[in-house]
Amino acid sequence: MPHTYDLFVIGAGSGGVRAARLAAKAGARVAIAEEYRIGGTCVIRGCVPKKLLVYASEFTQSFKDAAGFGWSVENARFDWPTLRDNVQAEVTRLSGLYRKNLDAAGVTIFEQRAVVAGPQSVRLEKSGEAISAERILVATGGHPYRPLELQGQEFAITSNEAFHLGRLPGSIIVCGGGYIAVEFASIFSGLGVETTLLYRGGKILRGFDEDLRDHVQNELARTGVKLVLNATFAELAEAPGGRRCARLSNGATAEAEQVMFAIGREANTGALGLEIVGVRLAKNGAIAVDEFSRTNVPSIFAVGDVTDRINLTPVAIREAVAFVQSEFSGNPMAFDHADVASAVFGRPPIACVGLTETDARAKGKVRIFKSVFRPMKNILAGNEQRTLMKLVVDAANDRVIGVHLAGPEAPELIQVAAIAVKAGLTKAQWDATCAVHPTAAEELVLMGEPASHDNEAPA
Ligand code: NDP
Repeated sequence: MPHTYDLFVIGAGSGGVRAARLAAKAGARVAIAEEYRIGGTCVIRGCVPKKLLVYASEFTQSFKDAAGFGWSVENARFDWPTLRDNVQAEVTRLSGLYRKNLDAAGVTIFEQRAVVAGPQSVRLEKSGEAISAERILVATGGHPYRPLELQGQEFAITSNEAFHLGRLPGSIIVCGGGYIAVEFASIFSGLGVETTLLYRGGKILRGFDEDLRDHVQNELARTGVKLVLNATFAELAEAPGGRRCARLSNGATAEAEQVMFAIGREANTGALGLEIVGVRLAKNGAIAVDEFSRTNVPSIFAVGDVTDRINLTPVAIREAVAFVQSEFSGNPMAFDHADVASAVFGRPPIACVGLTETDARAKGKVRIFKSVFRPMKNILAGNEQRTLMKLVVDAANDRVIGVHLAGPEAPELIQVAAIAVKAGLTKAQWDATCAVHPTAAEELVLMGEPASHDNEAPA
């Protein structure tokens, strides 16, 4: 019996939509199922709405900075419902565009949950319909981790709910020290919410370059985020007036109008039928795949956050492109996960690509170039925020193997720096590039003397 579809995609997020569209364009008969809203985490409750909230939160500092340039901004007021509703309207517009593009590519859309029913069949949960497909692509993404064993965990929100708050809280405790915790602590505090960042370790942003971690932690504290380190929630409860009360692991107590978990995300593999066909999962529940996004079941593939490789939208998209090239265009292709740049849209924004100083030193001799300076605009503004730029250079071949930035426009700069790192350009080639003046970015080609070299301790 021929299959109804050549490809059935479960999950219409960044990875799933891209795979469905490209496979359809390559001539395949394609269907996609989505149980929530077309667009997935990035469009619906991640990157896009988050970035819009970041923009909103930056006005507070801009208004302050404006005075030094002769402006007076009086009676500036912020209205959360206006922002929230405008952001949601934009999310709806983008979700509509995603749908339009799927339609235009000739992809059949099922707006209901689909689960794997066999190696080459899926079942639509609402209609009960069974559909056969030659290949199945699981692109179901992830969800915020909620510690169900924690007493009172139901009193906390996650990033999912943060976009829909009825009103902006006067105070919030954000638990976590990674991407989402830093971004939301920055957003809330920028919007005037009294914000506490509660992190179980001694320094936030584990895995990032140490200088960057120190810089961001100091900047967050300087701009009014209260940091509580080496502690986490031991118990949550409701306090009078709908407030939240937390007992912390260090014995202290804390109270706020809202509490939020930003303590990692988990792959959406639960009750998906994967166990029925024996798809192998990693210990953390993510789908185990090879470099071609193949699972151990030959007809089943997976891309994006559900595979927990690098959980970023552009990576999911590249994995999807490689999957379609390999399976539908006769061009076997594996996405190279090395030197993927990323950014944390906090205050300050940070961005990096390549190796941290610590990781590079573990591999061999390095030269470190570092510059910490107050951007021109901040001097007139009386704004104490400083920018940090750091290059990690392989001493053996002079290649720039790590770039770490904290400061205004860092996420914009890193995209270009990532080209140079991916291309393996040397520090001498960076230096041969003439500066653009006056910019902050020019510092990237003007760092003449190393802050430390060989295996000396960092200056
Ligand atoms: P992260 O992995 O970045 O951070 C999780 C944080 O939670 C860490 O600080 C971790 O601490 C802490 N944590 C984990 N478990 C517990 C626990 N049981 N109790 C207390 N603290 C805990 O996850 P996020 O949820 O912030 O983001 C998930 C992923 O999504 C990111 O890794 C990134 O790939 C992606 N993302 C990307 C964004 C971007 O590109 N701008 C924005 C948002 C998300 P510790 O370090 O000690 O383990």
